[in-house]
Amino acid sequence: MQENFPLSTITSFGTGGLAELLIQVHSTEELYSIITDHKKPLWVLGTGANSLISDKGLSGTTIQLKNSQIELIEESNSVTVVVDAGIEWDYLICELIKNGLWGLELTSGIPGTVGAAVVGNIAAYGQSVSDALIWVDAINTESEYNQPVRLIADQLGLSYRYSDFQNDHFSKYIIVRTAFTLQRSSTMFLNYASALKISEELNIQPDSLENRREIIMEARKRAGSLLDPDQINREKTAGSFFRNPMVSREQAEKIISKEEFGVSESEILRQNLLHGGDSFRISAAHVLLAAGFNRGQSWGPVRLHPEHVLKIENTGGATSQQIYDVAQEIINTVEHKLHIQLKPEVRLLGDF
Ligand SMILES: Cc1cc2nc3c(=O)[nH]c(=O)nc-3n(C[C@H](O)[C@H](O)[C@H](O)COP(=O)(O)OP(=O)(O)OC[C@H]3O[C@@H](n4cnc5c(N)ncnc54)[C@H](O)[C@@H]3O)c2cc1C
Repeated sequence: MQENFPLSTITSFGTGGLAELLIQVHSTEELYSIITDHKKPLWVLGTGANSLISDKGLSGTTIQLKNSQIELIEESNSVTVVVDAGIEWDYLICELIKNGLWGLELTSGIPGTVGAAVVGNIAAYGQSVSDALIWVDAINTESEYNQPVRLIADQLGLSYRYSDFQNDHFSKYIIVRTAFTLQRSSTMFLNYASALKISEELNIQPDSLENRREIIMEARKRAGSLLDPDQINREKTAGSFFRNPMVSREQAEKIISKEEFGVSESEILRQNLLHGGDSFRISAAHVLLAAGFNRGQSWGPVRLHPEHVLKIENTGGATSQQIYDVAQEIINTVEHKLHIQLKPEVRLLGDF
C-alpha cells in the first residue's frame, strides 16, 4: 500500500501522474475489505501495458491485482483451466504449453495480466481470448453482496478487441478469476504470413506447442512487440494505439490502394479477415498512411514508430496529455479526410 505512487513507473508509456493510494491485492477477501474501507473512486490496473493514465493522476484508490492461482481440471475431451486475474498472461501461456494444452499458444508474448486480457479480448496471429474463455468471476464494486458473480463468456459481448467490461455497465466490475477451455491437440493452423515466413526461414515446423511459441516469439521480437519492463532503453508504447475500423467496401478499396509495399489486395483482405473477423475491418495502419501520416513522424517527444505506424511512442519525457493530443489530432484528421472514425484500443484513465 503506497500513497502518492508514481504511475509512470508502471505504465508501458512511462507516463501518468500519481495514484492517491495504490494497493496491491493478493486475494478476493482482501479485495472486499479494500472496496468497502477505502476512498472512492476505485481504479484497477494490471501491468499498465494498455493504459494511458492522466498526468493529473488517479484520485481515490488504485488496485493492482496480484492473485496468482492456476488450477487444471481434466474433462472428458478437454481441460478447463481456472486462472486468477492477477497472473501475467504470458506466464499462463507458458504453463499451458508445459502441460501440453492447445488453444491460446499463438497469443504467446502479449504483455499484461489475465484480467486485462479479458477486458480487451486480446488477440494475435489469428487467436483471441474469446476462442477459449468459458467464464469470469467478477466483483461488482457498487454492490453490498460480497461474493463474486459468475459471468458466462456469452454474456460479455466479446468481439474484436472488445468486451462489455469496457462499457459503463460492466466497468464497475473487477475480474478476479477466469476459466478457459484448452485441448490436448491442435485447434487451428498457424495461418499468418509473417509467422509462416519465420517458420520457413528458421526451419521450425509449427506442429508442436513449443515450436509455435518459438516462431511467435521470434515474430513478435522482429515486430518490436515484446515488452521487457526492466529494459532501460525499451520502446515506451502500449502496442497498437487504435483499433482496426469497420469501413465500407469502397473505403476499404481506396485505402488498400495506398499500400506502399505492394502487398496484393487479396492478401490484405485475407490478413484483415484474420485480424478483425471480416473483410471490411481494415488495418488502422493503412488508414493512418492513407490520411497522410508517416512512419517515424514526430511531435516533440511523441512519435509514430518508425516501422509500425500504429504504435504511438514516448521517445523520452512525453506527458500523457501530449500523447493524447497526438491521438486526437490523428482521429480528427482521419475523420476529416476519410470520414472514418478511429477508436483507441488503449484505455484512457483519468481526466484529459
Ligand atoms: C509491446 C506491446 C505489445 C502488445 N501486443 C498486443 C497484441 O499482440 N495483441 C493485443 O491484443 N494487445 C497487445 N498489447 C496490448 C496489451 O498487452 C493488452 O491490452 C493487455 O491485455 C494489457 O494488460 P495490462 O494488465 O497491462 O492492462 P492494463 O493497462 O493494466 O489495464 C487495461 C484495462 O483493463 C482494466 N483492467 C485491468 N485488470 C482488470 C481486472 N482484473 N478487472 C477489470 N478491469 C481490469 C484496466 O482498468 C484498464 O482499463 C500490446 C502492448 C504492448 C505494450
